[in-house]
Amino acid sequence: MGIISARKDERKLSFSQKLYFPEIFKGMWFTFRHMFRKTVTLEYPEKKVILGAEFRGRPVLVAESGKERCVACGLCARSCPPLAISMQAAETEDVKERYPAVFEIDMLRCIYCGYCEEVCPEEAIVMSKEYDFNFRDRKDAIHGKDRLLVESSALKERLDFLRKMKNKNFGKVFNFLTGNNRHSVRDRV
Ligand code: SF4
Ligand code: SF4
Repeated sequence: MGIISARKDERKLSFSQKLYFPEIFKGMWFTFRHMFRKTVTLEYPEKKVILGAEFRGRPVLVAESGKERCVACGLCARSCPPLAISMQAAETEDVKERYPAVFEIDMLRCIYCGYCEEVCPEEAIVMSKEYDFNFRDRKDAIHGKDRLLVESSALKERLDFLRKMKNKNFGKVFNFLTGNNRHSVRDRV
């Protein structure tokens, strides 16, 4: 077996570099100095991030005194790119006439795009601030009405944000009859 000769372009190490200790101490000194600096990372999950209203977390259904605003029109399900939403409409005696007897979001499919919130005519589905949840199996990842319904008071920040950001021309461009729009959430405020 022949002796492997050094490559011509190989970096030459000085005596102190060959010892390695100076470089090790340099690294340790660097780490030591950073121990006294202000941390920029967060000790999650003990500490949580304070999120603004613009954050798009888990989509939830807005409820008024326990009842969903949703009128089961199906727009959110049609516009959901990964087909994460499924629902079954039923009739009700309420003024809104329809409600979702079943409403499910598969959180393994959801990509937090916010399209469902964007298209909903009732502001009945909104992106909450919730981001730290998990599931043990695929069934557990399907959120039904029991987990989706959240009182509007708890979602006020997001609802206010949406009113500010969406539909700036609502009612300004053409006249409309309020009676024709009585299902809209705008008549409930
Ligand atoms: S956020 Fe996007 S992916 Fe998730 S349920 Fe809504 S439309 Fe579907
Ligand atoms: S778009 Fe809104 S009102 Fe229509 S089914 Fe979805 S959540 Fe309900």
